[in-house]
Amino acid sequence: MKATPLAQGTKRRYSGEQTTREATKDKFSAAPGGGHAGAGAGLSHAQPASPRDHDAAVVPKSGSSSSRPAGWTEDYFRSLYSSDPDFYRLGLKDPALGALLKDGVHLDFTDPAAVMQLTKTLLHEDFGLRVHLPPNRLCPPVPNRHNYILWLKDLLDSTSSSYSEQYDPQRKVTGLDIGTGASLIYPLLGCIQREAWSFIATDIDAESLASARANARANDLESRIRIVDRTASDPLIPLDDLDVDAIDFTMANPPFYASDTELLELAAQKSQPPHSACTGVPVEMVCEGGEVAFVERMIVESLVLRGRVQWYTTMLGKQSSLAVLVEILRKHEINNFAVTTFIQGSKTRRWALGWSFLARRPSPSASRGCGSLIAKSLLAPTTAITIYEPSSPAHTDLVPFLKTILCGMMESLDLCLWIWDEKSLRGMGFAESNVWSRAYRRRRAREGVLTKRAASGSLADVANSAFGFSLSIHPAKTDDELDEGTAIILRWLQGDDAALFESFSGVIRRCLRKDAIQSDH
Ligand code: SAH
Repeated sequence: MKATPLAQGTKRRYSGEQTTREATKDKFSAAPGGGHAGAGAGLSHAQPASPRDHDAAVVPKSGSSSSRPAGWTEDYFRSLYSSDPDFYRLGLKDPALGALLKDGVHLDFTDPAAVMQLTKTLLHEDFGLRVHLPPNRLCPPVPNRHNYILWLKDLLDSTSSSYSEQYDPQRKVTGLDIGTGASLIYPLLGCIQREAWSFIATDIDAESLASARANARANDLESRIRIVDRTASDPLIPLDDLDVDAIDFTMANPPFYASDTELLELAAQKSQPPHSACTGVPVEMVCEGGEVAFVERMIVESLVLRGRVQWYTTMLGKQSSLAVLVEILRKHEINNFAVTTFIQGSKTRRWALGWSFLARRPSPSASRGCGSLIAKSLLAPTTAITIYEPSSPAHTDLVPFLKTILCGMMESLDLCLWIWDEKSLRGMGFAESNVWSRAYRRRRAREGVLTKRAASGSLADVANSAFGFSLSIHPAKTDDELDEGTAIILRWLQGDDAALFESFSGVIRRCLRKDAIQSDH
């Protein structure tokens, strides 16, 4: 029997266009060519039929859920941009793009009009969105922005109060997009993909705010996206100003540069011509102290707001910023954080950072989705381990055998709750302390029952318990050549103490080893 960390497979994703702002930033991100996706990494899904393939399914307006194309599944959204776009085909679908293509197949990324049209075309073809982009504001690359939404979905789904680690279409989610820009791209992408999501979107730029409002209107999403004017000195997370008690997440793509001079210097240092047309203005790209200062402000506000936001998140342009900010989080003893990378083709890489004051722990794909691309010291502790059982033809009853061992073991412990779901072969357990330690068992023998069982046996009773986990059995697939046998995944769902997870995983390993030896299996 051997233990391995939960596999974190990655998948290549098409990058999309790139702004000069982003190309310039690359020089400082020390990002060698790569090509692995951050968001969505680790999940492989079959490519579903695209709504693009069903003309009747493409809706001109997005707000009405009744006209939502059947093909808009979670798998569909997750599979977008995993390969290079077919400009010829896109040009045939959207003549406005077709007219701007060279030889009908090539897109000139240095032509601002072509880059803007590509963004509009992708938003329409892939998401049914109609978006107006002012010519004098940043043009967002769709694949990168979409990656951020995919990562947020993963982060929220893996830390929901149901602990199910599944998408719950009924879960109402409110997000705050700080600095939404003229496109309103994040709220539009979020609302299209998740019908129970709504947004508060802020900005300090009057022109961007006017354009964002027009985009909400054009897509019938005014009731789900509240657009709020702010000034540069206002709090970034205005829950009190807006009389909002709590939200589920914040997101931001902060201005990168610390000054106009830095922006101009970086542009001047560029030895290559711009990769792509840039249509941005200083308010979008410059703020005092650059992105580190912007995110530090978010951290300072979060120290007061704490659990009123489940996930504080931001995108970052420089890996050096990530190191500084993780250090600040640790200094404030914020240990529940998530880091990922968004890869755009071979040239551009972005980072994202999220942190939470709540105790629910995200999946490894959401919290460490950057695999080996980031120094281990910048990552939060892993939250899942996979234990493989050696399988052989004689083990036809291996799954019920493992279930009996695991459930028996859990029932022998003083857990405050243990729930087993036979259909998914997954159990969830919660403990108030290290109830498997020798010291606890000795005390129990001396003083009798120490742990109180959850009063109603429901998850609400254990929301504040010190340690929560799931144990799931994944039977070997005989048709999969790479399969290493039946797997048991132990997932750390809740709690601040990584040592509890580590010591519990040791208990599970020992228990399986002991029983495997004692049995004939
Ligand atoms: N979210 C968009 C735009 C990002 S550019 C996208 O990803 O494409 C950064 C945006 O932040 C700009 O629109 C700028 O006007 C806005 N901004 C700058 N400082 C801000 C602040 N203090 N509060 C809210 N928005 C701010």
